[in-house]
Amino acid sequence: MSKKLVILGAGESGTGTAVLAKSKGWDVFVSDMGKIAGKYKEELEANHVRWEEGQHTESDILSADEIVKSPGIPYTVTMVQAAINKGIPVISEIEFAGRYTDAKMVCISGTNGKSTTTLLTYHILKNAGLNVGLGGNIGKSFARQVAEENHDIYVLEVSSFQLDGNDKFRAHISVLTNITPDHLDRYNYQLELYASSKFRLSRNQQATDYFIYCADDAITQQYFNMKTGEATALPITITGAYNPGAYVKNNTLFINNNKQTMTINMEEISLRGIHNTYNSMAAAVVASLLDVRKETIRESLCNFQNAEHRLEFVSQVNGVEYINDSKATNVNSAWYALESMDKPVVWIAGGVDKGNNYKELKALVKDKVKYIICMGLDNIKIHQAFQDDVDMIINTGSAKEAVHVASRLAKKGECVLLSPACASFDLFDNYEDRGRQFKEAVRNL
Ligand code: ADP
Repeated sequence: MSKKLVILGAGESGTGTAVLAKSKGWDVFVSDMGKIAGKYKEELEANHVRWEEGQHTESDILSADEIVKSPGIPYTVTMVQAAINKGIPVISEIEFAGRYTDAKMVCISGTNGKSTTTLLTYHILKNAGLNVGLGGNIGKSFARQVAEENHDIYVLEVSSFQLDGNDKFRAHISVLTNITPDHLDRYNYQLELYASSKFRLSRNQQATDYFIYCADDAITQQYFNMKTGEATALPITITGAYNPGAYVKNNTLFINNNKQTMTINMEEISLRGIHNTYNSMAAAVVASLLDVRKETIRESLCNFQNAEHRLEFVSQVNGVEYINDSKATNVNSAWYALESMDKPVVWIAGGVDKGNNYKELKALVKDKVKYIICMGLDNIKIHQAFQDDVDMIINTGSAKEAVHVASRLAKKGECVLLSPACASFDLFDNYEDRGRQFKEAVRNL
């Protein structure tokens, strides 16, 4: 009799897993507490997968041999706890799909910079002509690609929630961009637990594997002893120099992977800002480890266009530059955005505060920001934090209003930066919706 796989959550990750599991002969049942999107229902039907929505039927779930939990579902939900108590393994999509491919895995995690580094790495490998798939939190799920495509290498963006469900999964190259406090609500408000989840990237890595990390990141350094496995650690830094590793000297990036060294002129790299220097270094190290030609790495770093909502230039209106960094949903990412501004800033910030500590932004705000425009339902913390640092703080209740006010305050030669440091759910569906509404308002000026 076939073994039974229950999949909790029927989004892109869960449905992709169902397609793969079915093709490998599992008896599959998908259960989602919410509503399942129409396209996924159709796909489950077409693959003869049993499913339910709006409920979790205990008897059907707890008779599983294994459970794959979608990353959006916390371990604390009753059904997951019941499964664990019954001794049923609860694993991630990546753990499950990883069993069915021999491809080399490049896994990218960290608090900020995952998507940028993942997309950039994929861009370089693709330009090099490699048969590479892109997955994880971006685009098509990894499981679906394992079922339907056959890549030699996968570049995966993995969140800490996915890492939590990994056991035997092994990354050939893992990248830990940085660790700053975020999502702590899912980790009992303990930074240590969150960090330990990130360091699971190194789990099962062997001596022929690599672990790339940011040596300038204090929390990564603090918890570095959580690294397990035998991978060679390759640090990246902008403050010192590591061989092997990657560093910056005289406006040049040095990439040394133990086998060879290459240099890239920083002026030529398309992504701006210190944070993107780190991301560019990490992606270049990955590509060099996979033997991509130096010229291809250089060219790819120069012609890469980042995804929407990440320090995205929108337009110039009356000599004022408008920048959409809606993806900056925490203080650390807003810090890097402000840091990379080279003009006086009208800063649009605010939204749902996830326990932000604004202290670390104060010096930058004092130095670069003229006005703050709050765009959220509750802006008290922003007022309290910055009232002595800027000329004025104004409350607004929509992207349209915020842009309108900004356009009146900003003078020629200045910039308007949307980099909220907060989640978007008070006024918007998600950060994409927030970014799009901002851009539309700018275009209507
Ligand atoms: P993630 O996928 O981890 O959320 P993104 O690449 O989408 O990361 O970037 C999210 C936000 O974080 C953007 O606002 C960006 O400006 C900022 N950011 C990008 N890379 C880094 C980095 N290495 N360190 C800190 N902040 C970063």
